[in-house]
Amino acid sequence: MKESKQSLSPYSNFDQLPISGKWRHGNGEKILRDLNPYDANVLVEIPYANRDDMDEAFRSAAVLQPGWAALLPGDRAAVMRHAAQIMEARREEIVSWLIHESGGTRIKANLEWNAVHGVLLEAATLPYLVEGRILPVDISGKESRVYRKPVGVVGVISPWNWPMQLTVRSVAPALAVGNAVVVKPASDTPVTGGLLLAKILEEAGLPPGVFSVIVGAGSEIGDAFVTHPIPRVISFTGSTPVGRNIARLAAEGPTLKRLELELGGNGPFVVLDDADLEQAVEAAVFGKFLHQGQTCMSVNRFIIDDRAHDEFLERFADRVRQLKMGDPNAPDTMIGPIINESQLNGLRSRIQEAISAGANQVVGGEAQGLILPPHIFSQVTNQMPLAQTESFGPIAPILRARNEEDALNIANDTELGLAAAVFTRDVERGLRFAQKIEAGMAHVNDQPVNDLPYNPFGGEKNSGIGRFNGIWAVAAFTTDQWITVQHIPRRYPFDARVIT
Ligand code: NAD
Repeated sequence: MKESKQSLSPYSNFDQLPISGKWRHGNGEKILRDLNPYDANVLVEIPYANRDDMDEAFRSAAVLQPGWAALLPGDRAAVMRHAAQIMEARREEIVSWLIHESGGTRIKANLEWNAVHGVLLEAATLPYLVEGRILPVDISGKESRVYRKPVGVVGVISPWNWPMQLTVRSVAPALAVGNAVVVKPASDTPVTGGLLLAKILEEAGLPPGVFSVIVGAGSEIGDAFVTHPIPRVISFTGSTPVGRNIARLAAEGPTLKRLELELGGNGPFVVLDDADLEQAVEAAVFGKFLHQGQTCMSVNRFIIDDRAHDEFLERFADRVRQLKMGDPNAPDTMIGPIINESQLNGLRSRIQEAISAGANQVVGGEAQGLILPPHIFSQVTNQMPLAQTESFGPIAPILRARNEEDALNIANDTELGLAAAVFTRDVERGLRFAQKIEAGMAHVNDQPVNDLPYNPFGGEKNSGIGRFNGIWAVAAFTTDQWITVQHIPRRYPFDARVIT
């Protein structure tokens, strides 16, 4: 494996894309202006890739993948480990990109750095988990083996909210187990959603062309990316409507694809009558307002037992009024900007809609630039749009539950099922409640924003299909081939000697 030199001069030339092993300009007609959501400064202007660029990336991935897969597991692991070391050496450069491009606060950017670093270290162990099996068989003289192989080429489409983490959690395991990968990052975060990772992996010694990044408009090349005949798996993280469209395209295109879909959430945060309210309020503030609520696992509904409701609301509102808003680069800022004008306008409409529907605004305020102050609404019912659909912003609806059973019914009365939380002083009661929640992930006495290497991450219902991390990621990006060997001639029922 090539040892690359560690250079600490910041990465540059982000106007170019790594396509089939070379950094070059995309051939699309439009130019993407990559903006800092806080001050609207242009970070970089990137000529879009077109469909031919994408085709080239997939073709070279298919050609180069077998060579990468044939390396020793330790060679692939070394690239992942080296990438993690490069992240350590370039920590501030990476954190700074996350702040400036995605509008994340310094607190959020550091959490994202930790998550990405953790995924790379985990990926360094995954090549050793690609195991085959020898299985028992009821046919004389037959030996049955299962060979586990990389799927070949993986296509990754990622969103803008935790761009580096949501890209790397597909890319690193897929590469580690021997696949080649092509990524299409979100247009709001082309650098942190793909190009920065390409620089790191290149410096870490990944063979050129095994990983390409296609920056292009989802509306222009999105469909062609999903229907391209080469990728065997499409790993998509984003909204449920786009995920549904991708599932349809993956079925209709020239080749059927396996899908990993990580979609929207409508996270319930349930406070039972015996909860420790101080603990619940601290968790609520973080679980709702980290990254301005722009996280798939963010709390979308607070469901509070009648006996805890008023005190919870009062304490929560007091705490939320103190959250510091402003420059995301300042170390103590907790609320930074919304990603773009269109998302902000969507949130403004939701606020108006909530007021018209009869919800009571407890905390609120006008947006300054793209910074929307935290909003809390009480007297929300589960039928209101605020409770039925994902806000993806700093809006906290509070719903009153009559009792535990009512809380569970409300929590499950949604088409989504990603992450949930329940607070109670009785851990066994919390566990029973969590097991009845229709969600891929549920946390007792913690808020729902949790994603840890080696722990299964994913949703139920319309929140998705599949699981990330650890052995689940190995399964997602490999396939089993059943091979048998007949060591002695087999006697078939067509053979007259065996027909009775
Ligand atoms: P989005 O669905 O609008 O876009 C996601 C990605 O899909 C982007 O890269 C976009 O360019 C691309 N895209 C858009 N149209 C496409 C098409 N027709 N074909 C192919 N690609 C297309 O989502 P977003 O606004 O970027 O992200 C927010 C959503 O993502 C929220 O719903 C959130 O809950 C969800 N999300 C889910 C998870 C999870 O792990 N479950 C994590 C983060 C975000």
